[in-house]
Amino acid sequence: MTQNKRRKFLKKAALTTVAATGTALAFGAPAVHAGKNLNWKMTTAWPPHSPLLGEGADMLAKLIDEMSGGRLRIQVYGGGELVPALQAFDAVSQGMVEMGHGTPYFWSGKAPAAQFFTAVPFGMTAQQTNAWFYAGDGLKLWNELYAPFNLISMPIGNTGVQMGGWFNKEINSISDIKGLKMRIPGLGGKVIAKAGGTVVLSVGSEIYMNLERGVIDAAEWVGPYHDYLMGFYKTAKYYYYPGWQEPSAAIELFINKRAFEKLPAELQTIIKTAAYRANMWMLSEFESRNNTYLQKLTVGHNIQLKKFPDEILKSFKKFTYEVIDEMTAKDAMSKKVYESYSKFQKDVSSWSEISEKAYHSMMSL
Ligand code: CA
Repeated sequence: MTQNKRRKFLKKAALTTVAATGTALAFGAPAVHAGKNLNWKMTTAWPPHSPLLGEGADMLAKLIDEMSGGRLRIQVYGGGELVPALQAFDAVSQGMVEMGHGTPYFWSGKAPAAQFFTAVPFGMTAQQTNAWFYAGDGLKLWNELYAPFNLISMPIGNTGVQMGGWFNKEINSISDIKGLKMRIPGLGGKVIAKAGGTVVLSVGSEIYMNLERGVIDAAEWVGPYHDYLMGFYKTAKYYYYPGWQEPSAAIELFINKRAFEKLPAELQTIIKTAAYRANMWMLSEFESRNNTYLQKLTVGHNIQLKKFPDEILKSFKKFTYEVIDEMTAKDAMSKKVYESYSKFQKDVSSWSEISEKAYHSMMSL
């Protein structure tokens, strides 16, 4: 070995030793950071431990705790326990709490484009929406929207296709919507208003009572599982589908951006990875429980399952595009987000036409 080669060899050996030591240190990371365990708070927009939504928040915290070996512990609070449900966004934005669990359209008063990240009437299914988030520009645009609020966000669940809602009378033509008092939030509510209905915003706990007392004639909530738990079948006879107003609804984890950026890279990755798993868990649970509870509703109770007539769906669709046009004309970010959303939907629909849609049609032959 020449002197030069020997020097190179020794240098390489030294580097290997450093690399090996580095690896050893990385494996010993929990010990190194033993004194730096973090205790964070997560405030949610749901009642504590509520079915699937609150459960999803609990599960996310547990996963992050397990994956980080206790280095990041998150105490979960139901809406109203620490801050009121609909103040979660502000609390996390201002850093009072590090994390929040909710759904973007709750914050559309602050950022109108947030609407598009939860649900769009006649929009994309859960699978398509996830594709827009992860494989398209969805998540990037979502974080662009939240950045001025010092927040980052990520999907951690989805309801899948919802139901059209509970009605105390049959809906046979668009004129039956005229004068109808319905609990239906968001863009769907604006569509019902265009069709001549009256939108009544009842919080979850008041919907049943309002239906029973005739304060409202109809209400949409989620799907068979949640609707069964709310007992709507006891007071309204007609259960309509499909959920044109919410073909999917994304649930989110939002995090104080400064707090997130201060985390070591591996904890950031743990949070993101736990979010992916929580997203899949919630959608799978919705799919499974909705199926079980639809059977309970239709077999065990005297409800009438009805499909909206095509003529009504066509009118709702026309009104939806009017509502979105008005919204995107007023707000530049809404325009930018919807352009991306609608382009993705158009492209993905061409594929689903000959994949999922063709497959489902084939199965009914
Ligand atoms: Ca709903």
